[in-house]
Amino acid sequence: MPLPVVAIIGRPNVGKSTLVNRLAGARDAIVHDQPGVTRDRTYQPAFWQDRDFLVVDTGGLIFDDDTEFLPLIREQATAALAEAQAAILVVDGQVGPTDGDAEIASWLRQQQVPVLLAVNKCESPDQGLIQAAQFWELGLGEPYPVSGIHGNGTGDLLDQLIEHLPTVDVEAEPEEIRVAIVGRPNVGKSSLLNAFVGESRSIVSPISGTTRDAIDMRVSRGDQCYRLIDTAGIRKKKQVDYGPEFFGINRAFKAIRRSDVTLLVIDAVDGVTEQDQKLAGRIEDEGRACIIVVNKWDAIEKDSHSIYEYDRIIKSRLHFIDWAETIFTSALTGQRVPKILDLVDVAAAQHRRRVNTSVVNEVIEEAVSWHTPPTTRQGRQGKIYYGSQVSAQPPSFALFVNSPTLFTDNYRRYIARQFRQNLGFEGTPIRLFWRGKKVRDMERQRANRATKV
Ligand code: GDP
Ligand code: GDP
Repeated sequence: MPLPVVAIIGRPNVGKSTLVNRLAGARDAIVHDQPGVTRDRTYQPAFWQDRDFLVVDTGGLIFDDDTEFLPLIREQATAALAEAQAAILVVDGQVGPTDGDAEIASWLRQQQVPVLLAVNKCESPDQGLIQAAQFWELGLGEPYPVSGIHGNGTGDLLDQLIEHLPTVDVEAEPEEIRVAIVGRPNVGKSSLLNAFVGESRSIVSPISGTTRDAIDMRVSRGDQCYRLIDTAGIRKKKQVDYGPEFFGINRAFKAIRRSDVTLLVIDAVDGVTEQDQKLAGRIEDEGRACIIVVNKWDAIEKDSHSIYEYDRIIKSRLHFIDWAETIFTSALTGQRVPKILDLVDVAAAQHRRRVNTSVVNEVIEEAVSWHTPPTTRQGRQGKIYYGSQVSAQPPSFALFVNSPTLFTDNYRRYIARQFRQNLGFEGTPIRLFWRGKKVRDMERQRANRATKV
């Protein structure tokens, strides 16, 4: 289950971003003093007591004129609220209630989301409570006096906030795996889709996707749920008569983006085409896990060796996803079709996998002892200080080095190969980031500051 989201809403300059940074415990993020600065919506992880959640600042555009910025704030706020489990309306206690506050409040009262009212800039010990009390008139219940800058009152606010947040149940059923089925027309995508649907014991339910006509379908096998992405797109040609040359590549790109694992379906008779290569390139770029499904295997004349031979040819034509497993299937006879979901399970698990820093560093040490980093003519040698996994989906690693320019492409590829050889990650792309000293110093400063809070 994803973390609950808390949306922070309010007029410009009331101190939303200051408060967000306070709640998220990172005090050094920039606070803009001057109006007219644009900020993007950013999510910051936060926790209070035993609860984790994300805070999203609706920040956005700042204008001088009250009447002008309200619709914009509303637009931002609507987007933020749509995904939030709770909202905090921030107002300025030193300015007092304004028409803008009242208007936002009355709009918020009509929303389904619980709203807390934070009266910011109430650090004054004798004025704070009085400043906050003025805001009862907004009709949002108790105003909480807080100070984003000094931290007063945020504990009470957070105590109240987590009452409204759902608990994230760690025992919950395994997460669904989002599967996209892509490939040229007539390779057998809808036949495979039907096979999955036929295979699933329990309910098949259409779920609307992000756009109106992208229908996803949920199927399950055992305890595992799969969301088949954009099944409408797969079946489309059954209703609409496109020419056989029509290839909805943009639609396929969108499906890839929304997937955890993409099935790249290839016609065994035609082999790998340019379009297949395009799709494969996109899968790698998007960092999705992938299974290469060579379908219509029944239509191929073969002796016992040809599957290896065939695999070699496919891998060489799709070398940029050489980490993907290949499976030879027939949607017609059902040969190996159930095995596809087994491979999906493995690839999805690898895509989500996290490796301990100590293991990562063992791999680096070993790799460096076999093959030392290159030295320039001036005698400067690359040094890898340490590495660690910074994120998953796809698994991404930062390697902290003296200077990234000292590492040739060749050497980088060597290290990447060592990662694969020693850590596996079958079916998923991995990323290595080479970080030099400058970036590292900045990060260390930031970390030091964050821990002081
Ligand atoms: P936002 O536009 O709502 O995100 O507001 P900012 O966080 O950028 O803050 C606007 C201004 O209010 C900045 O000058 C902050 O320094 C100031 N400010 C923020 N929080 C407080 C606070 O708790 N007390 C006081 N006195 N000023 C604050
Ligand atoms: P899509 O356009 O990728 O969804 O492809 P379809 O699933 O509609 O299949 C296109 C044609 O190929 C249909 O006539 C299917 O019967 C046929 N087909 C699909 N899978 C196989 C297979 O494994 N073997 C053979 N011989 N034909 C297949």
